[in-house]
Amino acid sequence: MGAFEALESNVRSYSRSFPAIFSRARGSIMLTEDGRELIDFLSGAGALNYGHNNHQIKAAIAEYLASDAVVHGLDMATPAKREFMQTFNSVILRERNLQYRFQFTGPTGANAIEAALKLSRKVTGRQNIISFTHGYHGMSLGAIAASGNGFYRTGSGASLSGATFMPYDGYLGSAFDTADYLRKLLMDESSGIDCPAAILVETVQGEGGINVAGKEWLQSIQSIAKNVGALFIVDDIQMGCGRTGDFFSFEFASLSPDIVVLSKSLSGYGLPLSMLLIKEELDAWRPGEYTGTFRGNNLAFVSATAALNLYWRSQTFSQEVRRMGELMRRRLEAIASGHRNSFAVRGRGMVLGFHCQIAEIAEATVRKSFEKGLIIERCGPIDQVIKFLPALTIDTETLDKGIEIFDESLAEALK
Ligand SMILES: *Cc1c(COP(=O)(O)O)cnc(C)c1O
Repeated sequence: MGAFEALESNVRSYSRSFPAIFSRARGSIMLTEDGRELIDFLSGAGALNYGHNNHQIKAAIAEYLASDAVVHGLDMATPAKREFMQTFNSVILRERNLQYRFQFTGPTGANAIEAALKLSRKVTGRQNIISFTHGYHGMSLGAIAASGNGFYRTGSGASLSGATFMPYDGYLGSAFDTADYLRKLLMDESSGIDCPAAILVETVQGEGGINVAGKEWLQSIQSIAKNVGALFIVDDIQMGCGRTGDFFSFEFASLSPDIVVLSKSLSGYGLPLSMLLIKEELDAWRPGEYTGTFRGNNLAFVSATAALNLYWRSQTFSQEVRRMGELMRRRLEAIASGHRNSFAVRGRGMVLGFHCQIAEIAEATVRKSFEKGLIIERCGPIDQVIKFLPALTIDTETLDKGIEIFDESLAEALK
């Protein structure tokens, strides 16, 4: 790791958690330069829902590159963009009775969050954003102002403003309905909470510790937003693109967000691509009012279209994600109940958190897992939750093998 220690900033993080030099990858397996083979339950933090170097998607990109088609196009019109928009519209939106306009933002999730917040403020003429405890929305100043994590907030070095934090579903225990609390505060003009431009929410908090919001709670939050004239924004950057079983993580609650934010697995290949879905009547941008050099990654349009065609034209993939998710959940619950510690398993679809309560147990388990050939990370406010995020395309055998490694590592960590 010499070159990395000598040349790369101290800020590097994943290369510390997973000290190896990764040279090749396919599906759910990563190979290191010195010939180790590891199972990947991290999946690029959610950017690789269809696995590494997915062969069928790669074929589409390779063909596109070979033809000298436009790769960088600012936001010019290209056949690749047209095909992506038409495919997304027919395969995803029309099938779900949803109607949105697309806004392609800069390439990162944080870029898209910034655009969503800007648009909300522009449309409503208000400043305040309601966001939730333990929420995570990215590293830029507007996004981090709406994120809970104290380590990142301090690291920003700026005075963060413009957001008011409310307790997420379950934050005050299962008996306390935090949506009621939010409603009461927002209906009371003298509560001290400024009328919000938007309410920004994740349906399952990824970085925040795999906290799962209930259907009724999400429906309440949506109706509160409507009642106070705020935009309802779902940050589906990590939980979208099939992670919870449906394409959008909010389908199970039949929500109709004003803005949906997508990134991470949208391109289907780990290429940067971010976009907002905006309700037509809220598309208040003037031409060119939001810009950016990298809003037209045509290679990513091509891979994204290929992924939609491959996995979303029928119900089969969704059903398979749900089935594999149930399999994972049963295995993890059995492991949890085999120990005297108070472990809990939470999540939806193929995103599951193994809550260790004690950070040291999670840390030791993840470290031992890596030694035994499994890449898996931690999340939550004190990194006490082990996060299972395998590719949605993983086969049962590899999934089982990964969970076995985790099981053994946990047992050793508890010794
Ligand atoms: C990863 C993530 C972001 C930020 O995306 P970047 O591409 O890292 O800027 C925002 N929101 C959620 C829910 C995320 O998981």
